[in-house]
Amino acid sequence: MSEKVQAFAALTSGAELTPFFYDPPQLKADEVRVRVSHCGICGSDIQAMDDKYSVFDFPLVPGHEIAGYINEIGENVPSSRLGQRVGVGWQARSCGHCEWCLQGQPRLCLDVVNNGTWTPYGGFATSVVAQQAYVYPLPEKILSEHAAVLMCAGLTVYSALVKHYSSSASNLAILGIGGLGHLALQFAAAMGYQVTAISSSSSKKDQAISFGAHHFIDSSVTNAFKGLADSFDLIMITSHGQVDWDRMLSLLRRKGRIILIAFPPVSLDPVDLVVHELSIHGSFVGNPDDMTAMLAFAEAHSIQPVIEKMPLSQVNEAVEKTRKNQARYRIVLENDLI
Ligand SMILES: [Zn+2]
Ligand SMILES: [Zn+2]
Repeated sequence: MSEKVQAFAALTSGAELTPFFYDPPQLKADEVRVRVSHCGICGSDIQAMDDKYSVFDFPLVPGHEIAGYINEIGENVPSSRLGQRVGVGWQARSCGHCEWCLQGQPRLCLDVVNNGTWTPYGGFATSVVAQQAYVYPLPEKILSEHAAVLMCAGLTVYSALVKHYSSSASNLAILGIGGLGHLALQFAAAMGYQVTAISSSSSKKDQAISFGAHHFIDSSVTNAFKGLADSFDLIMITSHGQVDWDRMLSLLRRKGRIILIAFPPVSLDPVDLVVHELSIHGSFVGNPDDMTAMLAFAEAHSIQPVIEKMPLSQVNEAVEKTRKNQARYRIVLENDLI
């Protein structure tokens, strides 16, 4: 491969994306190159563009909800993988020798920054490179534009929901109905949770119910939570916006858990946390076996993200729409570059 990869990069923190061309990286023995057909825009792409995590280098090519085709393989990759329709998520590789990789939990690999699909460059591009173990064959019934979103948002909600489910902890509230939340509702309902959607947009009620919510709470209404103290085993927080933490803690039963899969500011009074023995759990993407199980589950239960397609060449418009919280519920870029 000698032709340049065409991509869109933020050259500095907070900058608009600009066309960016780079030489395709040489494949290592266990790597493959994926020709990108679709790439979702995840909230963490935008946070990385704004350098919120302060760990990634610029120029930064975002994009880690990728679907496409394998068009080149490293020397240790079976030739049967060439041409395969695949997905790639946030994690493109792992070190393979730290304590977490050795325990079969590579999502927690100590070399986390170098693991990301953004390193060296992500999926707002004509191709990406990843270790073959992190490049997943897509089930036949799942369209590539839907699969792209499942690679990060789908995996994130699925692995958190599977980890925390038990028959004695199945009464779940999901706060926020956006890119993550609308998928969390679908997965949770299919897993057997009793699901309540909480949103400040009453206009999302009908869709929340159609995604599988059994109940809907419009948090913008006075007394929205009346009579609901001590109700839920679990509350999943899916948005980066402000959270009324003390309210959320009050809704939990004794020993209840908050599951945090986004990055909202945290400020809370610890009294309920201690006295009711509550806890807050972070959950980060998932392992390769979670990804495989998630794809099979999504196919079996016809779980689909609701998406808007936009051409990759209009990435700045798409990012702007996502920034303004106007995406319903995820924008997927289609590669219209040569
Ligand atoms: Zn993501
Ligand atoms: Zn590792």
